[in-house]
Amino acid sequence: MIEIDRERLWRDIETLAGFTRPDTPWTRRAFSPEYDTARRWLKAAFVEAGLAVELDAAANIIGRRAGSEPGLPPLVTGSHTDTVPAGGRFDGIAGVLASLAFARALEASGTTLRHPLEVIDFLSEEPSDFGVSSIGSRAFAGKLSAEQLAMTDPSGETLAAAIARVGGAPAALAEPLRRMGDTAAYVELHIEQGRVLERAALPIGVVDHIVGIRRLSLVVTGRADHAGATPMDARFDALAGAAKVITAVETLANAMNGKPHYVVATVGKISVSPNAANAVAGRVEMILDLRAGSNDVLTDFPELLMTRCDLGALGFEIAPISTAPVTDCAPEVMAAIAAAADRLGLGHRTLTSGAGHDAVNAAFTGPTGMIFIPCREGRSHVPEEWSTPEQLYDGARVLAETLLALDQSL
Ligand SMILES: [Zn+2]
Repeated sequence: MIEIDRERLWRDIETLAGFTRPDTPWTRRAFSPEYDTARRWLKAAFVEAGLAVELDAAANIIGRRAGSEPGLPPLVTGSHTDTVPAGGRFDGIAGVLASLAFARALEASGTTLRHPLEVIDFLSEEPSDFGVSSIGSRAFAGKLSAEQLAMTDPSGETLAAAIARVGGAPAALAEPLRRMGDTAAYVELHIEQGRVLERAALPIGVVDHIVGIRRLSLVVTGRADHAGATPMDARFDALAGAAKVITAVETLANAMNGKPHYVVATVGKISVSPNAANAVAGRVEMILDLRAGSNDVLTDFPELLMTRCDLGALGFEIAPISTAPVTDCAPEVMAAIAAAADRLGLGHRTLTSGAGHDAVNAAFTGPTGMIFIPCREGRSHVPEEWSTPEQLYDGARVLAETLLALDQSL
């Protein structure tokens, strides 16, 4: 019988969260002294749980427990232990420590799985000082480019040098560390970072998709003119046009969301020219951040937006900046998570992750799924981020049950 130690899990959360910059809780930036101390503590905890610890070439910490059937690929679980500046106490570490709790429970009960088990602390998941996020899991999947490895932080250190400094081997990262099929399944527990579960009063979320993200440049052009001397009927006011565009973005996203896909769209960056109090704006450049659980939505949104914006004589152009496609969770992993929650008598629903995760990259190595637990008011990446001991415990039990079931079925 596998028993997750609820008190120990909570104590681990408090301990690992406590490795923070004292002046700005809760801050544990990747490659910082606090991060280093935390990871040293984690490695010792892995060893104590009976895991053989190694660093891979991306300096991901891997704790491995042997399986009984030779030749089977590992079941992989984990998350990350870095935070954003002044972040929270649960993002990332909840997944790593729930995975550790499972490994500890296997050790305590003398259980050997058919598959090897790997608990991974992926290096630097949050946007790093190098301008790259999900560094460890990108490298895992062979998606960390030479250009990214050459990027520097404000001190001038390259990402490659930083990876080497924390024990990695950046020269080995030109090749994927794992390929499709190298992972029997990847399951990651994470706080939801939204309010869907809290509003529904459900302890467990089964993630169906991790949103794709498309960034688009929106440019409205008019004519810069004197704000006093130009009559209202003789203006080509680009900013007044941009206001219509922003409203149309919001209206369109509201209309598309939930039918059936998760859709959010944000104009969060705008630059106005000439940007003067006494000038009619001649040109406005904006960036649209579009996220959806469907690649079709990402593709179709710009054209729909264009048809909904009647800007008269103003110019309006939409141009793509970047696209990261939707990650689909594997149906067999989703089913295993839902069945595990059912067996434990825990309510659940499917939902789409609006944030990126290491799971996006792990999905390139094998069938992947995510378990979400509620977090208070959906607040995350802030010091107020909070999940209860009960919510963590429920999530950890579902993670354990899911991995046990997948060990039998895969
Ligand atoms: Zn996270």
